[in-house]
Amino acid sequence: MYAEEVAEMAGRIRDEDIALVRERSSIADVISEVVTLKSAGGGNLKGLCPFHDEKSPSFNVSPARNVWYCFGCGAGGDAIKFLMDAEHLSFVESVERLAARAGLQLRYVEDDRSAPRPRPQQGQRQRLVAAHAAAVEFYRAQLGTAGARPAREFLAQRGFDRAAAERYGCGFAPDAWDLLTKHLRQQGFSHDELVTAGLSRPSRSGTLIDRFRRRLLWPIRDLTGDVIGFGARKLFADDDGPKYLNTPETPIYKKSHVLYGIDLAKREIAKQGKVVVVEGYTDVMACHLAGVSTAVATCGTAFGADHISVLRRLLMDTDAVAGEIIFTFDGDAAGQKAALRAFEDDQRFVGRTFIAVSPDSMDPCELRLAKGDLAVRDLVARREPLVDFALRHVINRYDLDTVDGRVEAMRRAAPLVAKIKDREKRPEYVRKLAGDLGMEIEPVQRAVLAAGSGQPAGAGGSGPTRPGPAAPSLDSPQSKVEREALKLALQEPVLAGPMFDAVEAGEYRHPVHQVVRAAIAAAGGAATAAAGAVWIEQVRDACADLAAQALVGELAVEPLRIDGEPDPRYVSITMARLQWGSVTGRIKDLKSKIQRINPVSNKDEYFALFGELLSLEQHARALREQAAGGL
Ligand SMILES: [Zn+2]
Repeated sequence: MYAEEVAEMAGRIRDEDIALVRERSSIADVISEVVTLKSAGGGNLKGLCPFHDEKSPSFNVSPARNVWYCFGCGAGGDAIKFLMDAEHLSFVESVERLAARAGLQLRYVEDDRSAPRPRPQQGQRQRLVAAHAAAVEFYRAQLGTAGARPAREFLAQRGFDRAAAERYGCGFAPDAWDLLTKHLRQQGFSHDELVTAGLSRPSRSGTLIDRFRRRLLWPIRDLTGDVIGFGARKLFADDDGPKYLNTPETPIYKKSHVLYGIDLAKREIAKQGKVVVVEGYTDVMACHLAGVSTAVATCGTAFGADHISVLRRLLMDTDAVAGEIIFTFDGDAAGQKAALRAFEDDQRFVGRTFIAVSPDSMDPCELRLAKGDLAVRDLVARREPLVDFALRHVINRYDLDTVDGRVEAMRRAAPLVAKIKDREKRPEYVRKLAGDLGMEIEPVQRAVLAAGSGQPAGAGGSGPTRPGPAAPSLDSPQSKVEREALKLALQEPVLAGPMFDAVEAGEYRHPVHQVVRAAIAAAGGAATAAAGAVWIEQVRDACADLAAQALVGELAVEPLRIDGEPDPRYVSITMARLQWGSVTGRIKDLKSKIQRINPVSNKDEYFALFGELLSLEQHARALREQAAGGL
C-alpha cells in the first residue's frame, strides 16, 4: 500500500523534493511531538509505541539512519510513514506537513516547466486544518467588536486579561447566521469542506450557516498545535442549546482523544512526568497562568481510555518510570463519581492516579480568582492517592458507630482493595481499611480475599469466566421500561436528568440501551442538557454504533407511556422499575452461584456471597417500594 502510494505520488510531488523532505526532517523531532523518547544507548532513542498497547518501550528510533521501528508490533518506516500512521494522513499530506515544518517549498510534476508554486489541491486534513486556522483568525478579530462585549466581560470576570485571551486564541462567534461561512467561502473553502470541518451546517432551508453563534470560543489544538475544533460557551441566558457546545466528530476531531491544552502542556508533562486533568477551558487557562503548566481538559466528554493512551505515551508510563496523573474535582457528587469511574476504568493507571479535591467546591478557575495562584498550586500539591480517596468516599456513607454500618462499609470497600493491581500494596490497604473502620485486620482480610475471588483470573484461576446473562428481547417488560427511561432523558432532560444520570449504564440489560445510555453520559449527561434538537443531535453524535443512533432518533419522538405531562413521580417510578429489573437479575445470578459453592470447603466465599445477596435483596425491596409510587 505504502510503496504503491509512493510510486503513484512520486508522479505528483517531484522525487527530489520528497528526498529533500526526508533528509531535512529530524525523525526524532517529528516523533517527539507525539511520543516521549528517552535514550536507548548507541545514539538511539526509545519510547512507548503509539501503534500498539505496551508497558515497556519497544518503539525504537534511530536518528542516524532516520528510521523508526517497533519490536513489539513490527511497525516501522521513515518520518513520512510515521505521520501517515500516527496522524492518519495520506502520503501527500505527510510530505506537505514535513515540508512546511522544514520550511521547504514543494514543486509538483505538473508544474515542472513553470516556476515552482504551491499545489492548488491539498489533502483533506490539510484543507480542514487550513479552514480552522482561518476561522481562528476570524473569531479572534470578532472578539474586539462591540457585540463581543459579553465575551470580553466573561473572560475579565474570570481573571483573564487580554494577553491571556490572545495566548489561548479566544474568539467570539458573532450574532449572525452565516458571517463565518461567507468569509471562508470567499477564501476558497468549499461547501463540503466547511460542513466536513464542522464549522458550518446546513440550515432547515438548505442554506449553509455557521455552527457557532453568540458564543465565546476556544480553539482546540492537537498535539502538534494545529487547530482541529472549537469549544463554545453560551453567553446569553435566553439562547438555546447547552452551556458548552463543541465541534462534532470530524475526520480531524475525535473527542475521545482530544485534550484541551495538550499542545501547550506536552513538554512539561513529559519533563515533569505528571499531568493534571481539569474540567474546563477556563480551568486549563487558570492552571497554566498559576504555574501548573501540565494541566489539560477533556472536551465535552468524560476522561476515557483513549485519553489515557495519549497521555501514557507522553508520560512514558512504564513499570520502570512512573507517570503521575492528577484529577482535580470541585468536590461535588458528579466529580467524585467521575473519579470512582476512573478507578473502574483503567487498572493500569490506578497506582499512579491522584485526586485533588478543591476546598469549598471551587474549580481551579474560581480558586485562582478567590485565593490567587498559590492556592491553585497548593491544590495540586495536596493531591491524595485515588485508592485512599475512593475508600474514604465509600466508608463515609456508613455509620461506623454501629456494627451493621461497619460490616456494610467493609463489604463495600473490600472490592476496591481487591482491585488494586499492585498486589504488594494490598496488605497495606487492608491494614489501613481495618484501622479506618475500627475493625480487626482478619475479617477485613477475608472480605478482600472473597471480593478478589470473584474477579476473572483471580487467585487459583480455576473455572471459566461466567458468561453474562443473555440480552432480554426488545419487547420484554424490562426493555420497555429501559426504553421509557431513555425517552425521558432525551425528551425531558430538565425534568428527568438528575434521576436518570444517577442510574449507570450497567443497570440497563439490553446492549443497545446500554450504548444509548453511555452516549447520553458522553454527551455530558441529561441533567445539564436543555430539551430540543441540539441535545438529540449531541447524543446521536456520541453513539458508538449505527443501531443506537437510529434508536435515538426513534426515542426522541416516540410518545411517553403516560397520559398527560410527566412529573418527578413518574420519573422516579420509571427509574426504580428499571433498577429493580437489573437487581433481581443479579440476585438470580448470585443465587445460582451460591448453589454451586460448597459451603464447607469455601466457607469464606460462601459467606461473602451470602452477605452480598442479603444487601441486594434489601436494595430490591427499597426499589419495589419506590416503583410502587412512594417518592
Ligand atoms: Zn508497536
